[in-house]
Amino acid sequence: MGQPIDGKIFLNTEMVARRTDRLAHPSKVKTYHIQAAVLRTGSPLKIESLELEGPRDDEILVRIVASGICHTDIGFVDEWDGTANPVVLGHEGAGVVEQIGQHVKGVKRGDHVVLSYQSCGHCRECRRGHPTDCENFWEANFGFHRLDGSNALHRSGVRGHFFGQSSFATHTLATERNIVKVPKALPLELLAPLGCGLQTGAGTVINSLKVRKGKGIAIFGTGAVGLAAVMAARVVGADPIIGVDVKPMRLRLAMELGATHIIDNRRHDIASHITRITGSGVDYVLDTTGDQEIYEIAVRTLNSKGIVALLAGNEGADSLPEGRKAISVIQGDAVPQRFIPKLIRLYQTGRFPFDLLVKFYDLKEINKAMADSKKGDTIKPVLRIGSVSN
Ligand SMILES: [Zn+2]
Ligand SMILES: [Zn+2]
Repeated sequence: MGQPIDGKIFLNTEMVARRTDRLAHPSKVKTYHIQAAVLRTGSPLKIESLELEGPRDDEILVRIVASGICHTDIGFVDEWDGTANPVVLGHEGAGVVEQIGQHVKGVKRGDHVVLSYQSCGHCRECRRGHPTDCENFWEANFGFHRLDGSNALHRSGVRGHFFGQSSFATHTLATERNIVKVPKALPLELLAPLGCGLQTGAGTVINSLKVRKGKGIAIFGTGAVGLAAVMAARVVGADPIIGVDVKPMRLRLAMELGATHIIDNRRHDIASHITRITGSGVDYVLDTTGDQEIYEIAVRTLNSKGIVALLAGNEGADSLPEGRKAISVIQGDAVPQRFIPKLIRLYQTGRFPFDLLVKFYDLKEINKAMADSKKGDTIKPVLRIGSVSN
């Protein structure tokens, strides 16, 4: 466990190194001095002062209050070979709108916002309202530049725009495509992880699999994404809801959040346990592990017409029994501006208590926060970066 969940492709560092700032901004553009956690040669990340260009006409400058850490951030740090230009990671930002470009209509200065994944807005899938299938998804989220090739951190020789945000920083630029206005009554720092991990887990249950009341689901891997799926499965009335993991602490939390059964797969055989619980198998499996062996167990536990949703970039498929289906899911097929407010309403009514997953760290503790997440001691680390009131 600990695989990327946000897309199938990891960064090819050579591609980043080859890009140049072919559309660098004119020198008169205002720049902001910001602090950011920079990935240069691998771990540890270091906090540095950088220059960030001010927003273009379609951009929004956000003062970051908090940012969640997701396994995809950690995956980049672990895989980084140090030959590409340094980058700023972070893609679960929450903050306050500081300044807007002149074409921005949806938010204004002072609004509280959560940032999510980026999409282009003009390809066929974006126009059809399916931004997770955006034809430019890879470049918009993993390209470390705007879609025109430019980079607002170029003066510092560092690349930003990760998921259209790079939120391990005091300030960032976003667009209306990846910004979601949220109620001021709620603690902004808590809302940060809604932008990726929680949206992915809950969205897979609600949007991608469309799990219905009374259907059985097994969730393999009960980290932040898996636990969001457990909560969503309870919201839609799935039964049974079976959590599978190797960490007793995470399994206990799964029970607290709505799992009807748990399986510690270090101690018990998953397939025979699921058969014993259900009498047959489950209608859905959600696999957050990316582990081939786990995948093969997952498909064996599916009922006829069952679907396994793969969230960790695992293509699976080759050993699928007849009548079963595997789907690869990105960001829970969620449109952030619709789905994140829905998750917030569920939280406010006590049905999506994701605060139980969160542990806060200061930005300067980012390396410890990542290490704690890898060890499984912390389910969802959230970095405190600034205060709401400035
Ligand atoms: Zn993520
Ligand atoms: Zn698109």
